[in-house]
Amino acid sequence: MTDRDPIADLRRIAFLLERANEATYRVRAFRSAAAALAALPAAELAERARSGRLTEMAGVGDVTARCVAESLAGEEPVYLRRLVATEGTDLDAAATALREALRGDCHTHSDWSDGGSPIEEMALAAVELGHEYVVLTDHSPRLKVARGLTADRLRRQLDHVAAVNEALPEGFRILTGIEVDILADGSLDQEEELLARLDVVVGSVHSGLNDERARMTRRMLAAIANPHLDILGHCTGRMVSSRPAGVRGPGDRAHRPRTRAESDFDADAVFAACAEHDVAVEINSRPERQDPPKRLIRRALEAGCRFAIDTDAHAPGQLDWQRFGCERAALCGVPADRVVNTWPAERLVAWARG
Ligand SMILES: [Zn+2]
Ligand SMILES: [Zn+2]
Repeated sequence: MTDRDPIADLRRIAFLLERANEATYRVRAFRSAAAALAALPAAELAERARSGRLTEMAGVGDVTARCVAESLAGEEPVYLRRLVATEGTDLDAAATALREALRGDCHTHSDWSDGGSPIEEMALAAVELGHEYVVLTDHSPRLKVARGLTADRLRRQLDHVAAVNEALPEGFRILTGIEVDILADGSLDQEEELLARLDVVVGSVHSGLNDERARMTRRMLAAIANPHLDILGHCTGRMVSSRPAGVRGPGDRAHRPRTRAESDFDADAVFAACAEHDVAVEINSRPERQDPPKRLIRRALEAGCRFAIDTDAHAPGQLDWQRFGCERAALCGVPADRVVNTWPAERLVAWARG
């Protein structure tokens, strides 16, 4: 027996989602599940939860069924707990505080790959934004459409960055890095020796985004277990809208769809691995990505993951997009101390090397 009412919990979740201005379809999922389950006698509800048959009912999905099971076990559903954690807070103020806590950006591109501006230009814009560092993460060789850097070009880039750093104002640094492709087998698309030399390694899936669930999960788990990986970039690969006008970016080809569904993977396994291997989950600020979706940010938070709130900027002005990621993080109750780019450069680099 339990003194929690699962129906009331579902309705409370719906209310809090509406308050947070979440998508209508998500709110409706909780409201229709509450309505469907309210029609059941309590004994049948408990029996269906016990035997895992809640999802056989129309209107009840995996997420709502999990909430009901947790509620029947006498626990506050994890989903509800996360929403309640942000309930009394001023989300605007929380997003602002998070943005102010950020000292740098761990995912940016230059015209060495598919960005629109030279490294110097990106760095100066970052200085003007008040950043202490920016990690330069141009693409890896396999991403040919984005002019991914071969090992030789990356070596040249490292020399170039060292020279540019000499000329930049004291207190600001370009950190070296890469957005390395996570290949089909989960290996990383760059020479081991180079990955070891870089300050920060962001790894992203850019190909085979429709891999079936088990395959995609294996692929991501292999990458996360790689000791060189520091940050898991835009983990679902979704595109929620077309890229803003005039903005170039990876995958921006006429034949590409304007929106793209999330890749399918076992998020609990992936986030558990990120927590275990201390790989930060990127909150990608790009308006057309908004990746991961908030429900996954909440799950990563539950799993104990760290985060990096990054712009994935392909042009200087886009370096100011961190606010979008901060708003989403604040909605999910991500505390600043879980965000690696609130750290000074030395700590970030030491963490990435560790
Ligand atoms: Zn990417
Ligand atoms: Zn990128």
